Amino acid sequence: MDIIIRVNMSSLEVTMEKLPEGYRNLSGRGLTSRVVVDEVNPGADPLGPRNKLVLACGLLADSGVSSSGRLSVGAKSPLTGGIKESNAGGIAAYKMARLGIRAIIVEGMSQNGHQHVLVLDKNGGSLRPGGDLSMLGVYDKAQRIYDQYGKKVGAVIIGPAGERRQVTAGITNNDPSGHPGRYCGRGGLGAVMGSKGLLAVILDDTGASPVGPVRRDQFLSRAKQIARWIKETPQTAEVFPKYGTASMLDTTDAIGGLPTRNFSTGTFEGAEKINGYALHNTIVARGGQGTPTHSCMPGCHIKCSNVFPGRDGNAVVSPLEYETIGMVGANCGIDDLDVIARINYLCNDYGVDTIEVGCALAVAMEAGLMPFGDSGAALAAVEEMAKDTFLGKIIASGVVTAGRVLGVQRVPAVKGQGMPAYDPRAVKGTGVTYATSPMGADHTAGNTVRLNIRHSQREGQVRASRDAQLGIALMDCLGLCVMLVTALKDRGLLAELVSSRFGRNVTLEVLLDMARETLDIERAFNRGAGLTAAHDRLPEFFYHETNPVSGTVFDINREDLEQ
Ligand code: SF4
Repeated sequence: MDIIIRVNMSSLEVTMEKLPEGYRNLSGRGLTSRVVVDEVNPGADPLGPRNKLVLACGLLADSGVSSSGRLSVGAKSPLTGGIKESNAGGIAAYKMARLGIRAIIVEGMSQNGHQHVLVLDKNGGSLRPGGDLSMLGVYDKAQRIYDQYGKKVGAVIIGPAGERRQVTAGITNNDPSGHPGRYCGRGGLGAVMGSKGLLAVILDDTGASPVGPVRRDQFLSRAKQIARWIKETPQTAEVFPKYGTASMLDTTDAIGGLPTRNFSTGTFEGAEKINGYALHNTIVARGGQGTPTHSCMPGCHIKCSNVFPGRDGNAVVSPLEYETIGMVGANCGIDDLDVIARINYLCNDYGVDTIEVGCALAVAMEAGLMPFGDSGAALAAVEEMAKDTFLGKIIASGVVTAGRVLGVQRVPAVKGQGMPAYDPRAVKGTGVTYATSPMGADHTAGNTVRLNIRHSQREGQVRASRDAQLGIALMDCLGLCVMLVTALKDRGLLAELVSSRFGRNVTLEVLLDMARETLDIERAFNRGAGLTAAHDRLPEFFYHETNPVSGTVFDINREDLEQ
C-alpha cells in the first residue's frame, strides 16, 4: 500500500508514484491534509484548476480489523474556504488498499467541459470518457457502472449537484450490498470533483495481491482483541447494531440538544416517532429488503448501518442516520420517518449533504416559505433541486446562501457550513468544536456528547473539545470509524496494529503526534486562506437567545476559545 495515483485532468494523464518516505505513516485525513497543505496554495480558487482533490484510505483498510476502511476525501472547500476532510464507510477504501493505493490525487481541470471516469485495477489506471453518465442521479450512475464493470467494483461517485458545482455537493461510494449511500458529505467536496470533470472513480480489485501483515500472529491477536472489545461493550454489541446512530436522538432530546424548528428549541414533541426505537420497529415490521443492522464495509463487527424499507418492503435508502433524522426531521418539525427517508434518498440521488439541506429547509420555513412540519412542501422543495429551479438552487447552495436570499438572521453555520444535530447551547463542548475546528461546524471533528460531563455548563468545555478533536483526528488519520471509540479500551492497541501490520515500531505517541500535526497544518492552511480567529465564532443568536430546554446560551467567550 505504497502507491500514489496522480490524475491530471488537464492533460488526462494518470501516473503512479511511490509514496514519499516522509508520508509513510500517513493515511486517511493525515494524508489528505498533508497533500493539500504541501501542494495547494491556500489562496487557490476551490473550484479552479489549482485546487486538488485527494482520496486516501487508512493504514489498516484491507486488514480485516473491524471498522477500519473509511475513505477520506480532502481539498480546499468551496463551502468553508478552508481545508476540508470528509470521510465515510463503504468499500472504496478497502479496494484502494487491496490495489496497493494509499492515495489518489486529482489535479488540473478537464478542458471544454469534457467529463471522465477514472478506472483503477491491478494493471494501473486510465481515464475514460464519462459523458454517458453526465447528469444522471447517483443511483442510475451506480447501476450503469455495475452494468459495465460488474457489481463488485468500488465506485466513488458524484451526483448532478457536483457536476453543477453546487457547494453542498458530496462524494459517495458504495457499500458491500451495492447501495451507493456512503457519503463524504461535508464541505462541498463533490463540487471540487465536478469542477475537475471527474464523475466517478472505479476500483476493480480483481486479481489484486495485497500484502498481508508482516508480524502476522501479533497482528491477528490484536485484531481479535478489538473484536472482543466490541462484543463486550454494550453500545457496540447491542445498541448500535439495533438502533444505529439514531440511538443518539433520545439523548440529545433529553438534554435539549436536539435542534428543533431551526434551533428555536432543543426538544421535539415528535421525537418518539423518529427515534432509534421507532426506526428499528418500523424496519423490522416492514421486513422485505429492510434491515436494522447492516455493515457499511467488509469486516465491521458493529454493523450500525441499516436499510430503510418503504411500506412495500422495498429499500428506500441506506443508511438512514441520526444527523439526517435530526436535521431533516426535528429541525424542520417533521415527525414522519417515511418523509425523512424519501428526502434522504432524493439528497443522495442528487448528491448533496443532508445536514446542509436540513439546515436550509428549516431556514426557508423560518422565512415563511412553508410552515414548519409541512412534509409535502419540504419534499417538493427538495425535489426542486434536481429540477434546478431557483428555489432548488437556493436549497442546494446551503444554509448561508438560503439565509441571505430569504432574509433570515438566525442562520446556524460556522465558516459557511451548516450545523449538525447538536445544539451548541446544550452540548457546549461540541459548540466549541463547531467554532474552533479547522473543518467548520462539523460534529465529526470532535463531538463531546458521549462524554460523561454536564454538557450545558460552561466550565471544562474547551478542554473537552480539544481532547475530542485530537481523539477524532487520531481515528480519522488511521481511517477508523468513530463508532469504534466506545469499545476501544486502550488506544495503544492501534499502535500495535500499525506496528505489526508494517513490521516497524510505531508508538501511540507517534500516532498522536501525527494527529496533532494534522490539526496544526490544517489551521495554518486556513490562516493562509484568510480564516482567522475572528471566524472561530458561532452565529450571534446562540450567544443571546436562550435554549428553552437547557436554559442556557452559548457563553464560552473568545478568550476561552483561543486557549
Ligand atoms: S460501525 Fe457503522 S459506520 Fe462504522 S464501519 Fe461499522 S457499519 Fe460502518
